[in-house]
Formats: sequence, structure tokens, C-alpha cells
Amino acid sequence: MSIFEAVKQSVTTRQAAERYGIRVERNGMCRCPFHDDSTPSMKLDRRYYCFGCGATGDVIDFVSRLRGIGSKEAATLLAQDFAIPYEDGTGKMSKPRQQNTDEQNYKHMERYCFRVLLDYYRLLCRWKEDYAPQTPEDGYHPRFGEALQKLPLVEYLLDELLCGDMQARASVVIEYGEEVRKIEQRMAELAAADEAAAQNSGGQYSAADEH
Ligand SMILES: [Zn+2]
Repeated sequence: MSIFEAVKQSVTTRQAAERYGIRVERNGMCRCPFHDDSTPSMKLDRRYYCFGCGATGDVIDFVSRLRGIGSKEAATLLAQDFAIPYEDGTGKMSKPRQQNTDEQNYKHMERYCFRVLLDYYRLLCRWKEDYAPQTPEDGYHPRFGEALQKLPLVEYLLDELLCGDMQARASVVIEYGEEVRKIEQRMAELAAADEAAAQNSGGQYSAADEH
């Protein structure tokens, strides 16, 4: 049995949600972690459905979106945390990892968010200087615009991760985990494009600006 089937057969979305810190009411409703939900509008059972934003899927989709990780990673995480044996492709049954995996995974995600956001913050600060309009007639360079637009949010998120309590930090990780992954990917693309541009006799703008 594949890890996906094994996990889906063994764990309900409701069990996973509770395990990963979401408060589920007795009737199976919880506040939706995927939109700004003031009253519980998500129904959790084997699958989940949000009456507010329409988010739906199975337990693997849920954890994948909650943690900002791929389905394979989500399935592996669930298999470990719920001690579900599965075939790992080598024909051997995996040994479920014990001890504090939740906490380790969460800490890992929190550090990851912080690292990426800090890199992005530094990049935006540099853009704000380097691409500032020199004369009033100059239009905004898109990178200057992005710096002005994004800096306040990035500063706020870093502040929450540094100084916020457990709940504040968790909500940054949960709400912005996916976005942080996109930021990391985009910064990697920009760095590669800038490097290529530098090699091609120092063209000033890169293709990645079109994003
Ligand atoms: Zn929702």
C-alpha cells in the first residue's frame, strides 16, 4: 500500500487538525486556517470542507496546505506522527519515528520562514535604495515599487516571529507558510537571472522583473 493510501485510511482530517494544534468543536467544526475566519466555518471529518472559503480536500491536502509543504512530505509527516507503517518503495516497512516530531517540524518551519523573510527584507531594503527614482520625472522601477509595498508587511512578520508569543508565531507560519515558499523560489530565480545578466555584459534589468 502506498504511503498516501495508508495515511488516508488511518487518519481523518479531524485527527490531524487536532494533532497540529487546531481547536475542533464537538460538532467537528473549527475556524478555517485558510481564510480569516472569526467563527468556525470549517467542517472536519475524514475530509474537510470550509463553508466560508470553499477549501476542501483530504487529510493530506489539509496538512500540505497547513504546513506549506508538498503532498509527499505531508503524507510522510502524517505517517511518522501517527506511527503508520507503509511501504517505502524498498519493500521494507518504515519504522515510524517517535519523539517530538511535531515540535521539531514546527520549529523547522518557523526557522525557515524567518530565514526567507529576513533575506527578502534585506533584498527589499537594497532595492529601495538602488532603484529609487533619481529625478521626479523618473517613473517607479518595479523593484522600488515592490520594496515600498512589501516592506511594512515583511517587517511586521519578522517582528511577530522574533517577539511574538507562540500563537502569534504559529499564525505567521500557518498563514504565510505558502507565500514564504513562493518568495524563496522567486528570490532564487531573481538571483539566477541577475547572475546571467551580469555575465551577459552587465545588462541592468533581468527577465525576472517581468514577473
Ligand atoms: Zn475557509
